[in-house]
Amino acid sequence: MNKKSLIIVESPTKSRTIKRYLGRDFEVIASGGHIVDLPEGRLGIDIENGFEPKFVQIPEKREIIKKLKEVARKFTKIYLASDPDREGEAIAWHIYNLVNGEGKEIYRVLFNEITRRGIEEGLKNPGQLDMNKVEAQKARRILDRLVGYLVSPILWKAYYKGLSAGRVQTVALRLIVEREAEIESFVPSFYWNIFGEFLIGGKIIRAKLVKLDGKKARFENEDEVKELLERLKETVFTIDELNEKEERLSPQPPFITSSLQLEANQQLRFGSAKTMQIAQRLYEGVELGSEGPTGLITYMRTDSPRIAPEAIASAKNFIVREFGPDYSSPRNFKSKNKTAQEAHEAIRPTFIDYTPEKVRPYLRDDEYKLYNLIWRRFVASQMSPAVLRVKKLTLKGDKALFEAVEKRVSFDGWLKVMPRKDVEEGEGIPNLKGDEEVRASSFESKKEQTKPPARFTEGSLVKELEAKGIGRPSTYAPIIQTLIARKYVERQKGSLRPTELGKEVAKLLVRLFPDIFEVHFTSRMEESLDRIENGDDKTIRVLTDFYTVFSEKLKRIESEKSEIVAKTQPKSDETCEKCGSPMVVRWGRHGKYLACSAFPKCKNTRPLKSEEEKIDKLCPKCGSAMVVKYDRKGRRFIACSAYPKCSYSEPYPTPYACPVKDCGGILVEKYSKKGKKFYGCSRYPDCKFASWDEPSDKICPNCGARTTFTRALRGKVYHYCAVCNHKWRETENKKGVAKPESETGDE
Ligand SMILES: [Zn+2]
Ligand SMILES: [Zn+2]
Ligand SMILES: [Zn+2]
Ligand SMILES: [Zn+2]
Repeated sequence: MNKKSLIIVESPTKSRTIKRYLGRDFEVIASGGHIVDLPEGRLGIDIENGFEPKFVQIPEKREIIKKLKEVARKFTKIYLASDPDREGEAIAWHIYNLVNGEGKEIYRVLFNEITRRGIEEGLKNPGQLDMNKVEAQKARRILDRLVGYLVSPILWKAYYKGLSAGRVQTVALRLIVEREAEIESFVPSFYWNIFGEFLIGGKIIRAKLVKLDGKKARFENEDEVKELLERLKETVFTIDELNEKEERLSPQPPFITSSLQLEANQQLRFGSAKTMQIAQRLYEGVELGSEGPTGLITYMRTDSPRIAPEAIASAKNFIVREFGPDYSSPRNFKSKNKTAQEAHEAIRPTFIDYTPEKVRPYLRDDEYKLYNLIWRRFVASQMSPAVLRVKKLTLKGDKALFEAVEKRVSFDGWLKVMPRKDVEEGEGIPNLKGDEEVRASSFESKKEQTKPPARFTEGSLVKELEAKGIGRPSTYAPIIQTLIARKYVERQKGSLRPTELGKEVAKLLVRLFPDIFEVHFTSRMEESLDRIENGDDKTIRVLTDFYTVFSEKLKRIESEKSEIVAKTQPKSDETCEKCGSPMVVRWGRHGKYLACSAFPKCKNTRPLKSEEEKIDKLCPKCGSAMVVKYDRKGRRFIACSAYPKCSYSEPYPTPYACPVKDCGGILVEKYSKKGKKFYGCSRYPDCKFASWDEPSDKICPNCGARTTFTRALRGKVYHYCAVCNHKWRETENKKGVAKPESETGDE
């Protein structure tokens, strides 16, 4: 037997970084995420038998499973070091079952950071598997499978195959769709604010009317405003109050997963998936020149803002040294969420002395930007509050109260590392004694309009999901990705807009399962999972509770199925030219079309004469709007809306850039002589790029390029990058390896 020990982690990157810190007494191997899962193609849960799941080895993992077994045989001492969360615990448990045997000593170790300190700490405290965590993961997997597997077929019947419903995913879609309905039904109204300019002590001061007759000054009637402006001209004003006070502005806690995704979205325009991909690289280790691979941040899936005492201490040293003792204000944070796992820590830099500037030469631009955000937010959280000097001047005349405010920073505190422009406000208020004469010089009104609620961005959706207790740090990004992949939601100018299909699907599912796809119900389920994790609840009880409600709904729906489907396929005014039956509107992968209602007896279909779809482009010949059209064979192109006066047309443009370096063209849809669709460059014939494969919105995980394509080979879908030729599978996930585990409640 081997004197050495074996460490099993998930990703090759993590294993490379760990190897660097450990001597020859250790061997490190990567499992590539989960090795078992529920089977494909059947439910895999014995409902009558206590919901016993039937986990099977993932087919793509046969190689690595064989290798794990072989390697593990040579070691007595094995450390399972998958990621320190629920998923990681389940992965460790499945590997444990694979490699356990007589005479083995198997330990679970947690590396909150991939640094010498983090690894030594982890190995110093080897523990046993936390079976409560394993149970919680199992329960979640079963719940998601039940919903996904039993509900999705209803969507296939009503719309088309390949759609999916998900326990959490559908609730997120519901939030987006309901927000859109609010926006659509919003009726803006107008209101007026009134400002005055006053001459006081030789200076002009602009002030806002805040109160009239003791009530808040907000006017919705223009005549009333005009009349008031006249009256104010006649009014005599005096200084009512002049005061000055200090306001303290505290820094925010360091990042947790949700706040990181929100800020990266707002400040860097990163989508949630991109943020998590980059954070993962920073956690697992980046090459720092002669330093070798180094984990720059702590684990990025966390809901706790807690900071380790050592990190607080080194931040204090750093801040005192760099900015002086006045700037240091060590503090720790507690989670708002009572069920948050307090063993977890905030996302923070592992070495505070690795300032963003210092590591910049070794990082890709996006990595630098995200690290910069994380580093500054953490350092700021350990700094003194900023102090603002707030001057307020109130002017009184008759029944009107005007107010002018000036805010100035008198001590910058944490603003030193996170400068903000929105802190100071107001024009200068001169030093006054309070008995000066006030002369009103002019008044004006400003018309304002009430605004509809904003569409969700990826960041604000994550914030909302967290606030409502839906989803967990590991699920936010996959939920958004799935909604986009299913074409339920589109990215539009940085926000998430539901598609017509998304609206229909949400409406149908909420109508069929009002209490399952509901916010409170879903957050209660998440709490139940947390309770299982804490040992305060039993999987069987949670699943039984859920299934009682769920199965009753399912049974009822079974008998109404044809009615439900009929409702989603409204009759059109047209009749089938083949058999005379009425045509109905059906959904297909490429939108709506007309199908014969006598299906399956008559299989006739016809394109739907839809309203013309406008496209954001003008005709280069005559300046009219361009619209999307289809020829007799259903091939898409864009043409001038002034047809037949102007007959300009061109291929349908995709949103994807041509992958040829410095080309600047975009990819357009074209058709070969035989009628097969391909993608070519809009700068043809200058650029001859062409591809049969469909461009995708995936970002290359290897080089970060956005020019990726999707190809189906022997029924398997994979993506490849046109810049670096990196290939990866559809199911490639957070751990950078194939893992059909869905954390979105999506099947
Ligand atoms: Zn027909
Ligand atoms: Zn034209
Ligand atoms: Zn090109
Ligand atoms: Zn690439």
